[in-house]
Amino acid sequence: MFVDKARIKIKAGDGGDGAVSFHREKYVAAGGPDGGDGGKGGDIIFQVDDNFSTLIDFRYKRKYMANKGEDGSANNCTGKNAEPLIIKVPRGTLIKDAETGRIMADMSSDEPCIVAKGGKGGKGNVNFATSTRQIPKFAKPGFIGEEFDVILELKLLADVGLVGFPNVGKSTLISVVSAAKPKIANYHFTTLTPVLGVVKVEEEKSFVMADIPGLIEGASDGVGLGHEFLRHVERCRLILHVLDVSGIEGRNPADDFETINKELANFSEELVKCPQIVAANKCDMATDEQISKLRDFITAKGIPFYCISAATTKGTAELIQKVAQVLDTLPPIKEYQAEPLPEPTLDESAGLNEKFEITVDNDIYFVDAPWIEPIMRTIDIDDYSSLQYFQRVLRNSGIIDKLEEMGINEGDTVDLLGFEFDYVK
Ligand code: GDP
Ligand code: MG
Repeated sequence: MFVDKARIKIKAGDGGDGAVSFHREKYVAAGGPDGGDGGKGGDIIFQVDDNFSTLIDFRYKRKYMANKGEDGSANNCTGKNAEPLIIKVPRGTLIKDAETGRIMADMSSDEPCIVAKGGKGGKGNVNFATSTRQIPKFAKPGFIGEEFDVILELKLLADVGLVGFPNVGKSTLISVVSAAKPKIANYHFTTLTPVLGVVKVEEEKSFVMADIPGLIEGASDGVGLGHEFLRHVERCRLILHVLDVSGIEGRNPADDFETINKELANFSEELVKCPQIVAANKCDMATDEQISKLRDFITAKGIPFYCISAATTKGTAELIQKVAQVLDTLPPIKEYQAEPLPEPTLDESAGLNEKFEITVDNDIYFVDAPWIEPIMRTIDIDDYSSLQYFQRVLRNSGIIDKLEEMGINEGDTVDLLGFEFDYVK
């Protein structure tokens, strides 16, 4: 089965937690803090593998999770970073954020791509020794690894895409100009899988042609099979539009030409702008009058017209020469640019109307507010703006006002879910 679209979940590893630990040695009564930092969580990395030609594996396995970083430990030991999880995909796979449609990566080159970043490790208590607080009891949990629902979409890499109604001779054409051997038969929809063929023009010069399953009217609305496959034409530099000039199936080739172009336009504006060459096929069965009528119709639109018989290879060499010559003037195969992740929008209303309790014990203010845990995990204590945000959340919730009301002084210790910090006005 040819599968060229799949939806999967990816989750990079969380960072390891920082450790709370104190140096212990014989004859040393109370050592200093020595809890190390957590390791980084594993990234999710995508990589092209040319052994794959479809996305079928992703039908069966839909969840991909990288490991968590190792927690920090005593003796100032930093936890190990987790190994990345590498996901292999066929060349030409586009990775999109399912929620926003944002393009995250175009896996066309051999360059591996980090699509979800592992969380940083949390700080161990060794980092929090200050002159006023020599024995920090807290450590920071690791950061959460990125998590996305992604859509994988295979868009084949070909210079030339063959389009046309079923049975006009597309598969026959690719089979005579390249080594590709698609199924050829005298009934509709014999091509169910796009086929790529390398067309050799001369020594050292070739291009890739894709045989796309036949389009039929309404294809872009999802009627028939063609629509599913139109995305494989999207990267093509040139469309080779195959028509049956003999009209053997009772259709008028000029109407076919218009119908297919309408389908292309309905699918994407870009596609209809793609340069075309017309191959009028089955000329062995056509009358001179049929051929000249179609030639006039097509050339009047400024489109190159070639009369061929794929079955007998008549005219195919000239056609291929022309295709190669036009390709020389066109930009390379389209690659999609990854769109950057938008700046995370901080929820400025976080903390509003949330409940909390504060108790005082030995001049330490214990704040109990479970809702703050997930927010704390996203706060980078080395980052000023991140800390500022945390302050705003505390203010929103009324925790700061309550502490003030209870008579807290500058330099007093606040314990928030086990994370201690000095109160600064
Ligand atoms: P596709 O559906 O467009 O891929 O068409 P195929 O390549 O499968 O061809 C459909 C039928 O048309 C087959 O029976 C072919 O043998 C026949 N055919 C293809 N090219 C020619 C041609 O140049 N002349 C004639 N007479 N028949 C052809
Ligand atoms: Mg075919």
